[in-house]
Amino acid sequence: EGRQEQGYDVVVVGGGPGGSTLAALVAMRGHRVLILEKETFPRYQIGESLLPSTIHGVCRMTGVAEKLAAAGFTPKKGGTFRWGANSEPWTFSFSVSPKIAGATSHAYQVERSKFDNILLEHAVEKGAEVRFRVSVTDVIEDGERVTGVRYTDADGTEHEVRATYVVDASGNGSRLHKRVGGTREYSQFFRSLALFGYFEGGKRLPAPNSGNILSVAFESGWFWYIPLTPDLTSVGAVVRRENADKIQGDPERALMALIDECPLIKEYLSDATRVTEGQYGQLRVRKDYSYHQTTFWRPGLVLIGDAACFVDPVFSSGVHLATYSALLAARSISSSLAGIVSEEAAFTEFEARYRREYGVFYEFLMSFYDMHVDENSYFWSAKKVTRNQHTELESFVELVAGVSSSEFDLDGAESAALRMKSKSAEFVSAIDEMSADAEGNMTPLFRSSAVRQAMQEGAQVQSRAFLGEDLGPDVPMFPGGLITSDDGMLWQPGPA
Ligand code: FAD
Repeated sequence: EGRQEQGYDVVVVGGGPGGSTLAALVAMRGHRVLILEKETFPRYQIGESLLPSTIHGVCRMTGVAEKLAAAGFTPKKGGTFRWGANSEPWTFSFSVSPKIAGATSHAYQVERSKFDNILLEHAVEKGAEVRFRVSVTDVIEDGERVTGVRYTDADGTEHEVRATYVVDASGNGSRLHKRVGGTREYSQFFRSLALFGYFEGGKRLPAPNSGNILSVAFESGWFWYIPLTPDLTSVGAVVRRENADKIQGDPERALMALIDECPLIKEYLSDATRVTEGQYGQLRVRKDYSYHQTTFWRPGLVLIGDAACFVDPVFSSGVHLATYSALLAARSISSSLAGIVSEEAAFTEFEARYRREYGVFYEFLMSFYDMHVDENSYFWSAKKVTRNQHTELESFVELVAGVSSSEFDLDGAESAALRMKSKSAEFVSAIDEMSADAEGNMTPLFRSSAVRQAMQEGAQVQSRAFLGEDLGPDVPMFPGGLITSDDGMLWQPGPA
């Protein structure tokens, strides 16, 4: 017979980056939060290459950024690609100008077992409670509303726990996502399979790019090559669905055959040995089909991270989307619990912003794969607008990373705030300029205004995390929508 217990304000299902970020943010507002996690931490996970927005935006808001900085992860200054018509690898850096080399122009390559554990311990330090080896099996409903969850502990005992809000952060294998309503829709475009493992002694890109992700397109798909430590490299082959037979059968033989198809990766691994023990000892296969749930919330239940949606991993957006959606949902929960805005308004805002950010990456990635066959790419557009001597992609990154790098070259909070505002204005007008050609026609990447708006929002999250109240009042992202509080933790009604 199941045992029942007292309720929480929030029960979070899953202690990955989405779940622990949300738990930390809501606990920081003084609410009672319980995380239910199926595994014991640290545990293995894929998704090792991160973006600056996670490290210097959301993780700064929860306060975990310093712990990450002290953890010794490989700094990632950008990406190196052998992709498209160019037979030579090309590189972008988050701060393409070496003169600036801003303090936030990098992310990390992380061993997810360590990274996720730091985030989860931080959530506990902020006041969240966590239970390991408990598997959530279903939600509890009271009419329209979700009012808690059922879970099974390690002994097989069933429990129920009540909460004002249940957050499904249980990843792509979520058992709860259907309970929000709607369906999980799979993309027709992004349907690949990944086969991956770990190597010791792999080569490194020359400095200063030795911490970069290396992505290499080849006949059957593309490889990632991620330097996790000076000695350890994560290597994965992503093959299109029509090549699925190439990863069938003996995984060792399949991976080696794919490496043989790809001369650059073969060369980088020529002195390396595959790790065969511990958490990195096995070869793994994952479907990386892109999908999104057609609705992200219902009263009492909200989906974040991979439970809600996933997009092709080539631009390392997974952890960014998980932590960003955690921030948006945390604002909705905290504002709703505080009675500042209605639940309906708070979660409508969450869903609109989350969908837009997802849409940006989806569209961005479509263009990226388009570029594979079409020279008229967004990189080319970026180069045209910035009129510099860098590669197309560097031009693009210089533009989109402008707000996240040069303004952190600080000389005092007040002037920094002013500089941020002028930088934001510069950034917005640069995007406007970039989105139209000389005849005023929209270029492919920016055809959707959602893409432009979300790029601006991304810049805002990072600025707000860094400058807090100095940034000045927010403006609604959607007509009639909500704005964020000065500290970024809550929604507020927009100007009447
Ligand atoms: P997860 O990290 O999946 O965490 C979910 C947690 O919930 C887990 O700890 C799990 O044990 C727990 N859980 C599950 N079910 C239950 C249950 N019933 N009860 C209790 N707990 C439960 N992202 C990047 O940012 N960079 C990359 O380079 C990258 N590469 C990728 C490569 C591939 C091939 C794939 C498939 C994905 C990649 N991703 C990458 C995406 C990344 O893995 C995910 O987006 C990210 O881990 C999502 O975080 P999350 O918090 O939503 O979920």
